[in-house]
Amino acid sequence: KLSAENLEISFGTKEVLKKINVSFNEHEITALIGPSGCGKSTLLRSFNRMHDLSPDAKITGSLKLENLDLYDRAIPVTEIRKRIGMVFQKANPFPKSIYENIAYGLKINNLPHGKDVIEKALREAFLWDEVKNDLKMPATRLSGGQQQRLCIARAVALRPEVILMDEPCSALDPVSTLKIEELISHLKEKYTIVIVTHNMQQAQRIADKTVFMYLGEVKEEGETSQIFNAPKNEMTLNYINGNF
Ligand code: ATP
Ligand code: MG
Repeated sequence: KLSAENLEISFGTKEVLKKINVSFNEHEITALIGPSGCGKSTLLRSFNRMHDLSPDAKITGSLKLENLDLYDRAIPVTEIRKRIGMVFQKANPFPKSIYENIAYGLKINNLPHGKDVIEKALREAFLWDEVKNDLKMPATRLSGGQQQRLCIARAVALRPEVILMDEPCSALDPVSTLKIEELISHLKEKYTIVIVTHNMQQAQRIADKTVFMYLGEVKEEGETSQIFNAPKNEMTLNYINGNF
């Protein structure tokens, strides 16, 4: 279980997250929804300590993966990012071969990086059949959807416990989107998955739970069917009806 307790984040004088209490379960997909600027990416990024890069970020509260304190400074950020993988809106393969894109992180973490390991990760990301004869090709020659699946392969290769996805399909066509949705649904057997999406159909197709955020707060959370069919909060209702 991944959780945030009384999490508050500000950048300088700007309060972005206010007393967030939320948790994400294993073997579930949770969709994080809410209007632009409500803090979804900020929340997601806090779990793998991406705000370490912003000198004016102030973070209070507690963030945990099981009993592990994610902000325990004794734990190197590489360890956190090995256990909590992240996939971004814009696929960001390294300017290296398909093979090296996966091998790189494995080497850094002193993990085996033989061809069998690379194949397993590519299979898990539904990409192996399409690239098995082109492993030495630059990853940037792949299509957008394939690049995104490569980024997912790169994350799963490290055997994480959690995969965070920030609008992974919003730059993709409908067919690539459905393929990645199928992949994500498959991955939940092994991982805790949190996906930020602006696509309400997508949330309903794949998410077990949905969390609705508004102006830096979690306004409502629950089973996806409840959130979309019987929201309790007026704000949630307005948002899912497109009245924002
Ligand atoms: P979108 O749906 O458009 O991606 P979001 O819900 O992901 O929006 P965030 O990116 O989390 O929103 O941003 C929330 C607020 O925090 C915004 O007002 C943004 O400008 C601010 N913010 C995020 N990161 C920083 C930062 N490093 N420094 C200053 N402000 C920031
Ligand atoms: Mg965002």
